[in-house]
Amino acid sequence: MLALLILGFGIFYYSQSSQLAFLVMCGLALVLGITLILPIGGADMPVVVSMLNSYSGWAAAGIGFTMNNSVLIIAGACVGSSGAILSYIMCKAMNRSIIAVMLGGFGSKVAADASDGVQKPVKSGSAEDVAFLMSNADTVIIVPGYGLAVSRAQHALQELTSKLISKGVHVKYAIHPVAGRMPGHMNVLLAEADVPYEQVVEMEDVNNEFGQTDVVFVIGANDVVNPAAKKPGTQIYGMPILEAHKAKTIIVNKRSMASGYAGLDNELFYLEKTMMVFGDAKKIVEDILKAI
Ligand code: NDP
Repeated sequence: MLALLILGFGIFYYSQSSQLAFLVMCGLALVLGITLILPIGGADMPVVVSMLNSYSGWAAAGIGFTMNNSVLIIAGACVGSSGAILSYIMCKAMNRSIIAVMLGGFGSKVAADASDGVQKPVKSGSAEDVAFLMSNADTVIIVPGYGLAVSRAQHALQELTSKLISKGVHVKYAIHPVAGRMPGHMNVLLAEADVPYEQVVEMEDVNNEFGQTDVVFVIGANDVVNPAAKKPGTQIYGMPILEAHKAKTIIVNKRSMASGYAGLDNELFYLEKTMMVFGDAKKIVEDILKAI
């Protein structure tokens, strides 16, 4: 309805050169923008931000046409298409419909926190416990997330991996396409630490291995391993996750019980086979290294 009104006032402004029609059109566009974005939940926000980026590019290209300015057209088209490609990649990784995002989240699920407000007990352990579990395992899968980037623990983690491999442990990194804060964030961090490509496995290839894995080490990741993604009604419902909950033992390193980007509690932390190791990722990895 608002969009039709904007179109109507736009045509009126074009035909009558009415300044008032132009101002009303701008006001309505502002209201439309705000009401389209407000209902969109935290987990879908990155897609919306890159979509808005893309829109700004197309708007610049449009202005380029009206001003007959080819630089604006080319620059606008570059921004517009790269934003659209990035949005498409994110939508695919999060199992969202790009059409729904373009329509302002119409059809998006109702936001709901998986927590029931009750404080549940968790098992916690130390870096020494982690060192013991890891060095006695045959297979270890490391799941890095945003916290790894925050603490810049990738170099220490690479050292830890090398040490485990030298002890005969099979170690892999499982990468979720939207782990971190941009697509490919984890791949860039691990490449920076010279982690060999063959140790880095994408989600589709690693998910069926978790069931046979002795230890999964989730380091600074939360939403990408949150089983709430399988519960209808949660903000991340439908997003594919790394199925860390299927492993024999799960170790989770983060600083507190705080939620991740989507603001959801994570059932994985409360499982009988999960051990939480609280602290900054880099410090914890260094302590594990010392203890091995
Ligand atoms: P999350 O944001 O879900 O979780 C990161 C976790 O890291 C937090 O729970 C936090 O817990 C912990 N953490 C933060 N700092 C540290 C630290 N110094 N040491 C140890 N742990 C730390 O990250 P994920 O990677 O699991 O998921 C990415 C999320 O970001 C998804 O929801 C995705 O949709 C969204 N997103 C992804 C984009 C992409 O393209 N990759 C773009 C923008 C958003 P605590 O505070 O307790 O330490």
